[in-house]
Amino acid sequence: MEELRAKLKNKKRVVVKIGSSSLQHPETGDLDFTKMDILVRELCNIRNQGKDVILVTSGAIGCGRKSLHIKPPLTIAQKQACAAIGQARLMTTYQRIFSEYSHQAAQILLTRNTIEADLNRHNAQNTFNELLAMEVIPVVNENDTISTFEVEDVIGDNDTLSAIVTALTGADLLILLSDIDGLYTDDPRQNPDAAFIAQVDNITEDLLRMGKASTGSSVGTGGMETKLMAARIATYSGADMVIANGGDVRVIHRIMEGRNYGTIFKANKDENFNFTDIDKIKFNL
Ligand code: GLU
Repeated sequence: MEELRAKLKNKKRVVVKIGSSSLQHPETGDLDFTKMDILVRELCNIRNQGKDVILVTSGAIGCGRKSLHIKPPLTIAQKQACAAIGQARLMTTYQRIFSEYSHQAAQILLTRNTIEADLNRHNAQNTFNELLAMEVIPVVNENDTISTFEVEDVIGDNDTLSAIVTALTGADLLILLSDIDGLYTDDPRQNPDAAFIAQVDNITEDLLRMGKASTGSSVGTGGMETKLMAARIATYSGADMVIANGGDVRVIHRIMEGRNYGTIFKANKDENFNFTDIDKIKFNL
């Protein structure tokens, strides 16, 4: 455990995922600018240490919905329209904050097709590599406006998306910020006897069953189950992963200093890792 944590200091390329629930004020659903500011400062500070950093962020649909004053439930077309408006707003806000810290952010929107089609995937990889070589911070979301929900041509949740981005860019660490402290044997909000799991070396079937039983927030789409699926993809691609509470986003530098925050999943590289097999890895078919 100590050794695995200490190694996090030497990570060279890190992906950080933040969800809608960590970015919005719970009372109104409006963006929490203070939190976004601290998040961006943390990321810029990683960049300032000469490390590559990528942000995977949700919030497009929520942001668009707020600006249009539409109340849920939303039709798919309404969600996609909201994403078109909200993604631009979200990105404008990020770009403004990144530039305050003298850094450049770049937007990358991915779909399942981008990942599965060889040519598109290579293009995306080239773009990531070029941006990182330019010391730019890629800011990634799913391209919700064109992902065809009707035929399930979606990645669907940003936990999975962030794990795919980790694999795509050969990152050596994924930090998933959640609204709970990490992995528990059961949902700690419902079961006071739920025990915290500090380290996972192998994502076993038992663990996946446990994840199914415990769910996540009502705001984003990813519960604990999707986080375990993401852990599979990230660790098989060769990265360590940490799930931690994004309530205080300064947890990012604490994790990277090797301190004991959240649950750490040990890298377990699968030499046959293949992007067209993502579903097999996800659902263990
Ligand atoms: N891509 C969606 C959005 O930005 C969110 C998906 C998720 O929260 O997992 O609104």
